[in-house]
Amino acid sequence: MLISKSYIMKSKSYACGSWIQGGPGGTEVRDAVNGKIICNVSSTGLDFEKMVEYGRTLGSVALGDMTVHERANAVKNVAKHLLTKKDYFYQISSKTGATKLDSWIDIDGGLATMFSYSGIARREFANETFIVEGPPETLSANGTFAARHILTSKKGVSVHINAFNFPCWGMLEKIAPSLIAGVPVIVKPATVSAYLTQAVVEEIVASKILPEGAIQLICGGVGDLLDHLNEQDVVTFTGSATTGKQLRSHPNIIDNSIPFNMEADSLNCSILGQSVSVDDPEFALFIKEISSEMTAKAGQKCTAIRRVIVPATKVDAVTEALKSRLDKVVMGDPTAEGVRMGPLVGRSQRTDIRNAVAALSQHCEVMYGGNDANIQLVGDGVEEDAFYPPTLLYCAKPLATDAPHSIEAFGPVSTIMPYDSIDQAVAIARLGRGSLVGSIVTYDDHEATQIVMGAAAFHGRMLVLNRDCAKESTGHGSPLPTLVHGGPGRAGGGEELGGSRAIKHYMQRTAIQGSPTTLMAITREYMAGAKTSSTDRHPFRKYFEELVVGESLTTHRRTVTEADIVNFGCLSGDHFYAHFDEIAAKDSLFGQRVAHGYFIISAAAGMFVDPAPGPVLANYGLENLRFIEPVHIGDTIQVKITVKQKIKKDRRPEDKSPTGVVLWDVEVTKQDKVIVALYDILTLVERKRD
Ligand code: NDP
Repeated sequence: MLISKSYIMKSKSYACGSWIQGGPGGTEVRDAVNGKIICNVSSTGLDFEKMVEYGRTLGSVALGDMTVHERANAVKNVAKHLLTKKDYFYQISSKTGATKLDSWIDIDGGLATMFSYSGIARREFANETFIVEGPPETLSANGTFAARHILTSKKGVSVHINAFNFPCWGMLEKIAPSLIAGVPVIVKPATVSAYLTQAVVEEIVASKILPEGAIQLICGGVGDLLDHLNEQDVVTFTGSATTGKQLRSHPNIIDNSIPFNMEADSLNCSILGQSVSVDDPEFALFIKEISSEMTAKAGQKCTAIRRVIVPATKVDAVTEALKSRLDKVVMGDPTAEGVRMGPLVGRSQRTDIRNAVAALSQHCEVMYGGNDANIQLVGDGVEEDAFYPPTLLYCAKPLATDAPHSIEAFGPVSTIMPYDSIDQAVAIARLGRGSLVGSIVTYDDHEATQIVMGAAAFHGRMLVLNRDCAKESTGHGSPLPTLVHGGPGRAGGGEELGGSRAIKHYMQRTAIQGSPTTLMAITREYMAGAKTSSTDRHPFRKYFEELVVGESLTTHRRTVTEADIVNFGCLSGDHFYAHFDEIAAKDSLFGQRVAHGYFIISAAAGMFVDPAPGPVLANYGLENLRFIEPVHIGDTIQVKITVKQKIKKDRRPEDKSPTGVVLWDVEVTKQDKVIVALYDILTLVERKRD
């Protein structure tokens, strides 16, 4: 597919429901490989105040009316649509200097993150417009006053100011949780690679899956955008610490306490364990990990390994092994056969790296590559201006030299540093003053534990790599949707991803206090102490739509006999002394023989089910089981089940009928209302309507 004309002319922004071509001025953006101009990026003419207002009035309201599951499905459908355009995005991506593997990280990685978030939201949250978090909090002696935490969508927009290195993933990993949270997005990609982000947003808009106002795009500067934000908005920033600090201290951000999540530079380290010898598989794993982190995306990854911390006795071996691996890295046009590393994203990025390496080499020795290296490039019409070779530096005294812990060369550049003891390795790691990720390559779990415990407080993520997990390891450099991405201090102090946490960052957490019945009405979840209701019909005879949260059934009673215990013990094979040995049971904490806990919940099921086929299709789980008091021979038990929560499920093609999940609160008591067991059961219940 050919790239449409819009990418070689003027950039376009998507504002207030229209595509607006950039006005005069702006920045010329070049193909990183051949230096040809791709487009001029400008946001001149955009009305940023109107954009914010548009997002707040249309996007926020439309998303706010959708349930979490509906938003999650929309995100999934957008990802499905984008998947069909993948080849087109790959073609554009190569112009940023990305090899096929680099594009895979950016494009497929971004889409996978969207799918992952859609699944996380539908699995972990109820199908409501809000989220209930954590268990009920009892606040009074008689249980009439309690509290719950809920999260509701912020009534504003989220502004995402992104870095140049991941024009696709960088946007998608942030918009997915925001949209699922119900907060419309305004995306501002870095100018130099904005044409790829624009292509993706064009497809998102063309798919018409998201409601109007849910997404807007700014190609070019943000003008006075930040002046128009308020306390309901959120800003995320990925880029240099200098810009981040400047934006974070914007008067309006400070005055309105606008949440500002920052992901900045990070001098990530990888430590080779002291126990690893050159012949161990871990040594080869270490070399492979360092060289692939140096060369993937030409080292332009916030998670790339900048500091290579190795036992002093292995510095030579590590250096030689890395050199011989880096020798094999073919540089050039990323679309040409055999090329493993493309150019940096632009010429100015090369200037930045040259300056950083010049500054580093005042304090470190250049062992490989560097500013004066000759580079061989493969491919027709390749222009050298944006290329920089893999470069290894050596810092002999890392504990006494600040430069390699503070100067970031955002490219294929790493510095080797020696250590003499694990304590020293930890001290060197800490000198990064906060990193996104650190890794340890060792087969010695004691060593790994020492390093993790010493350095975890300085890192957002730590990978321990060894022969057991290497084959399936996702690697040092890959942030994952389910794991926290972000680090303290120098890394910006922010937090992204991390499973459902990411969605909650765009919502307001509020503690709601009141009576259990009021809290049940607000949260649509039953809690102990709330008023329950019942009808003549057994709840298992009711369809999903007919069941009401708080509806309950109290069963008949059953007296537990010695025969029950003997029968259950023989059936299950559980002859634990507390059930069978009169003397031992007398000396135990129970004082006498007790019924099996699993007998109690089995007996409870027999008491509360309605046996005939009906709308309740299956029991597929039990959660939060607690045995509170023992049941002795002669005790009489009774069960109360209450509809605790209802979650409507999407009908899949293979489903015979539409269904929903009903969570039941189960309370087993014995005489004198003593609670014996508490738990929740999950049932699949048929819906009347699709
Ligand atoms: P910048 O800080 O210059 O740019 C980052 C983003 O901020 C871009 O979208 C940029 O837009 C925008 N921006 C710059 N100035 C302003 C401003 N005054 N107002 C509003 N937006 C602004 O970073 P670089 O492009 O130089 O990125 C390289 C650095 O980013 C690296 O040094 C690296 O450490 C860091 N980085 C960190 C990552 C992380 O996850 N922690 C990931 C990737 C990079 P424009 O391009 O239009 O100027």
